[in-house]
Amino acid sequence: MNDIKLALLGSEGAGKSAVLVRFLTRRFIGEYASNTNSLYHKRLSIDGRQLNLEVFDPCSESSEARCILEEPVDWADGFVVVYNISDRSSFIRAKNILLQIREARVDNCKGDVEVPVCLVGNKQDLCHIRQVCEDEGRCLAQENHCNFQEVSAAESYQDIGNLFTQLIRQVMEH
Ligand code: GDP
Repeated sequence: MNDIKLALLGSEGAGKSAVLVRFLTRRFIGEYASNTNSLYHKRLSIDGRQLNLEVFDPCSESSEARCILEEPVDWADGFVVVYNISDRSSFIRAKNILLQIREARVDNCKGDVEVPVCLVGNKQDLCHIRQVCEDEGRCLAQENHCNFQEVSAAESYQDIGNLFTQLIRQVMEH
């Protein structure tokens, strides 16, 4: 597979755009227009393979975001579900999204095929005001058979680069 489609999902303000822009440009963009649906394209090489990556970053509450959850099998090869470790409500939203992803696959009669998903706890730099401990994130990921990573889009590229690379590898093996 040379074309890979990923979708970012999560509460508004969790930092989806910041995580994605950090991955694509290695920079932190502090303020970003989150009220639009954005589709990003990037050519990259992983393990010697040339890939066309498309990442959909929907406006959190848009109809497209809901639509993607209704038909994830048809569109996305993998998902990045983002919450903010300093906002418990965003964690609860992430939990619901993971459930919706699972249910959507069962509805599509492909419940036995697990779409690669990575759960991301963003804003690790705000750990002094954290509302979700790291173990809760790890447990939720285990329950949903997905990878887990805490990151700070504000402070570091490394973990974000690794999580996207790992997710893309999983999609390629899928
Ligand atoms: P989205 O609505 O999920 O796409 O969220 P945004 O990417 O627009 O980010 C929402 C707000 O959180 C913005 O003010 C960002 O500057 C801020 N933000 C994003 N990531 C981080 C982070 O890792 N740490 C901190 N402290 N703020 C962040």
